[in-house]
Amino acid sequence: MLLGSIEAGGTKFVCAVGNEDYRVKNSVKFPTTTPEETLGKAIEYFKKFKIEALSIASFGPIDVQYTSKTYGFITNTPKPGWKNVDFVGLLKKELDVPIFFTTDVNGSAFGEYTVAQLFNEKIKSLVYLTIGTGVGGGAIIDGEILGTKGHPEMGHVYLKRHPADSGFEGICPFHKDCLEGLAAGPSIKARTGIAGEKVAQDDKVWDILSYYIAQAAIQQTLILRPDNIIFGGGVISERLLKKVRRDFEKLNNGYIDIDDLENYIRMPRVKNNGSATLGNFALAFNELHK
Ligand code: ZN
Repeated sequence: MLLGSIEAGGTKFVCAVGNEDYRVKNSVKFPTTTPEETLGKAIEYFKKFKIEALSIASFGPIDVQYTSKTYGFITNTPKPGWKNVDFVGLLKKELDVPIFFTTDVNGSAFGEYTVAQLFNEKIKSLVYLTIGTGVGGGAIIDGEILGTKGHPEMGHVYLKRHPADSGFEGICPFHKDCLEGLAAGPSIKARTGIAGEKVAQDDKVWDILSYYIAQAAIQQTLILRPDNIIFGGGVISERLLKKVRRDFEKLNNGYIDIDDLENYIRMPRVKNNGSATLGNFALAFNELHK
């Protein structure tokens, strides 16, 4: 059996086919250009394989409500040309297979959840937060993706400001100083004038980011009480997560008992940014057997 996966990012698309063991058999990457060209390439790719179902983990915002007239669309994105694109409709017409549609971060969350089940880890719920060009979050609770009216928007919550960062306006086009506006990769350059990957490791900007990311972890802990909080995305490193755990402990102040913080706040188990592809295979499989 072959299953299809599309990880649709704002800068690149990763298309893959895999089997029911969720192993990648073939994959291809191409830049995200116009919807016509990009979706055309995806369709052409999957037509070469006899896939039985497909799952799409897409940049957003997207419409995931089955009853909505615009179900399967990319909706209010600032990305030029991609607003109100009928992503699922176009692929369904050409490929004619069951399609599951969710956010990129939900795909990653489901991949991490699936791996935890395969390795018999005692994980019933988890939150996945990605801190990259933007900030997004998804949660899996007892095998179900959280959100009925729409997908969660965990990247746009408001936070307490770091005392050394009070002069920074924030970069979210909607809210300025929400989590994304304060902790996404481009916020580093907005503060320092230097791209995140070139900023010195002892720069105080990392303590500022850590303070905000730790608040996100505290909020998710207080609201959902998940088994794990996983951080992915280009901004995240083990070095930064060390600071996040330190700040989490300070903010938590012993209120909630977390027995193994190293494991509670962690990086993905699936290597090489593969969580979303693996999650897609599992979601495509589920869609086929619904
Ligand atoms: Zn925002």
